[in-house]
Amino acid sequence: MPELPLLTWVLVVAALVLGILAGHFGWGKRWSASFSKLHPDYLAGLDYLVTEQPDRALDMFLKLMDADADTIETHFALGALYRRRGEVERAIRIHQNLLAREALPAEHREQALLALAQDYLRAGLLDRAEGLFLKVSEVARLRASALNSLRLIYERQHDWQQALATHKQLARIKAAPPRLVAAHYLCELATLAIERGEGPEARRLLREARAEAAPFPRAALLRAQIAERDGQPQLAVRLLRHALTESPQLLQEKLPHLLKLMGPPERDAVLSDLVRQAESRDFNELKRLVFAAIAADLVNAEPLRPSIEKVLSQDATLQALWRAAPGQFERTAREIGALLEHAEKYRCNECGFAGRSFYWHCPACHCWDSFEAYAIVKLR
Ligand SMILES: [Zn+2]
Repeated sequence: MPELPLLTWVLVVAALVLGILAGHFGWGKRWSASFSKLHPDYLAGLDYLVTEQPDRALDMFLKLMDADADTIETHFALGALYRRRGEVERAIRIHQNLLAREALPAEHREQALLALAQDYLRAGLLDRAEGLFLKVSEVARLRASALNSLRLIYERQHDWQQALATHKQLARIKAAPPRLVAAHYLCELATLAIERGEGPEARRLLREARAEAAPFPRAALLRAQIAERDGQPQLAVRLLRHALTESPQLLQEKLPHLLKLMGPPERDAVLSDLVRQAESRDFNELKRLVFAAIAADLVNAEPLRPSIEKVLSQDATLQALWRAAPGQFERTAREIGALLEHAEKYRCNECGFAGRSFYWHCPACHCWDSFEAYAIVKLR
């Protein structure tokens, strides 16, 4: 068994002891009398836990559960703890054991079903989890929790239609996540419609997405994709520029594509605009533009040159490269370009997951819209 952090042990022991005290003596009784009257098997169970014999501890607690209905909350706490630690089989045993008790009051039966569904979800048994969450969603007091878990299951299955429908159910009971999440489901559906060649349906979905969230650059990017397919490059350019103004973190991803849609004079005008926009914000914004430009092989683009020089000479890390080769602007920029090719370019601001690809939906923590462009150039 992996080591439990000290705090977790303290919480387990506190939960168990408090559960026992609540069951046997009521909360107001004196502590001094309590320990002497604890069921000896509980103390044995605790002993197995602290001596890292989780299966024997579990057997002991399950045996006691049959004998003592008052300690039920303790078992929920223990089940939740096992689940959080990834010991899902033990959590499932606890909750199945509870459900097998004929005399279990309805309230506890519903709670145990919810807990068992959460165990299945954690174990990746999505079909079983879905069935139980659907059942529990009928119970008013557990509905929000069950529906939210169902929404996460549909996300994992990429069943965007069901995820959207569940989001709407949650909105009706005022328990929905932000509307931005619904906008992303609509964009997922629009992407599928684009792939099927159903332009009008995709546009309808994107209109709905924009009604859910604004600003929402993802909808503009998809709309640009449709415009391009429909032979409307000017519209595609306008939409892409709109998305990049709202979300400069998309520059690394989308700048090369934007520039491909234009001729050289128009391209220089757009680059000058982007420089003005970045300069009016802050140095990091300018750095982001310069990195995007270097990665897109735009080192020699006239409107960008002063900005590239400014970033190379003023950035705390890049100064070293700049000073090592004074006057060799192009060489330094290309060296940075080579480093950027292998650098992690994006990072989730919720969980810190980093990589070279951009995601709207973090593959690690499943948050939406949490990716930011960042570039750390490691100088070797
Ligand atoms: Zn994340």
